[in-house]
Amino acid sequence: MTETFTGNFTQQEPIPEEAIEAALSVLRHGRLHRYNTAPGELGEAALLEQEFAAQMGAKYCLAVASGGYALATALRAVGVKPGDRVLTNAFTLAPVPGSIASVGAVPVYVGVTEQLVIDLDDLETKLDQAKVLMLSHMRGHLCDMDRLMAMCDAAGVTVIEDCAHTMGASWNGVPSGRVGAVGCYSCQTYKHVNSGEGGLLITDDEEIAARAVMLSGSYMLFERHLAAPGAEVFERIKYETPNISGRMDNLRAAILRPQLRILDQQVARWNERYRVIEAGLRGTPGLTVIERPEQEVYVGSSIQVLLLDWPAEKIGEVLKRCAARGVELKWFGAAEPHGFTSRYDSWRYAPSEPMPQSDRVLAGIVDMRVPLTFSLEDCALIARIIRAEVGAVWQQAAIAV
Ligand SMILES: *Cc1c(COP(=O)(O)O)cnc(C)c1O
Repeated sequence: MTETFTGNFTQQEPIPEEAIEAALSVLRHGRLHRYNTAPGELGEAALLEQEFAAQMGAKYCLAVASGGYALATALRAVGVKPGDRVLTNAFTLAPVPGSIASVGAVPVYVGVTEQLVIDLDDLETKLDQAKVLMLSHMRGHLCDMDRLMAMCDAAGVTVIEDCAHTMGASWNGVPSGRVGAVGCYSCQTYKHVNSGEGGLLITDDEEIAARAVMLSGSYMLFERHLAAPGAEVFERIKYETPNISGRMDNLRAAILRPQLRILDQQVARWNERYRVIEAGLRGTPGLTVIERPEQEVYVGSSIQVLLLDWPAEKIGEVLKRCAARGVELKWFGAAEPHGFTSRYDSWRYAPSEPMPQSDRVLAGIVDMRVPLTFSLEDCALIARIIRAEVGAVWQQAAIAV
């Protein structure tokens, strides 16, 4: 009997009851705008910022409308101007180069290694081309953050971390987002907390924080923030920082606060699932599991494997066969952008040089979401299906040779 999987790869868990209650209470009082507070009331958005800053050990936090907005705001707040070059990963998601383009800056792509992290040797040769690195921890893989920061500090390059897939992760005990000058998170449905859309930005730098608050559209109401610098810092920047509205509202903030309180438990649940799939795939001929470094605490909300040096049509066949058995895989090697998946050479607004080593890796990356609605049995079944289908296509190819 051929097993098939019938679960849904895009179905997340329901919003926790406590968060639903909090949302209803905001709806009932009607003060959804973050600066619309009753006398003495602390709004949900301000409380969310205060709590997330404390959770991450950051001095300042700002809640905004999306992860991509947080990235663009960070770029503006650190002083990136139109025409500037900004280093970033060749392997990332479209909102990352998009945020660079949105401020009129020009992405300079850095290659990806077989561990699926930024190629630090390639970065070293490009550090003199820009003053800012937007480092995307794509699919939750953390590079050697110690070496990266030593290189960037020596070169005077400011690091902005894109932590869309690393909320809850850490490197050598330091939370992801706390290593660079700014950490940016997404609260979009497919990330680690879910308010539909939303973003968070953290920093220890008072001027970056004040600029970010002004940029997000605080008018002159910045004193209602609970995780922002003092009024004297705003005095220095308030006349020269434009308002580019992208605030978070109290409804989303209310939904997020209870979710952040259970983040550690959710991370543990993701990783249980990840480890079951990883164990089920390990040793499959032709398939490479990504070994995770000891210094890394990751969040297994998705899993990647490499079908390195496979012909494109054979990878296509694996995807098709898995799909026929209910397992939805994504592939970064396709020539045309598809769904959420695209490659650096598809972002034609930001021209790139060909990167053969990275192309080889990208051509082999197969990616799968791991929603928490999957049971451990589901995960074991999914691994069995992938293993069988990769094995079948691999064997045919071997016979053909
Ligand atoms: C989701 C995501 C973002 C931000 O996305 P938004 O949809 O704007 O919240 C940034 N980087 C990566 C790698 C992402 O996956």
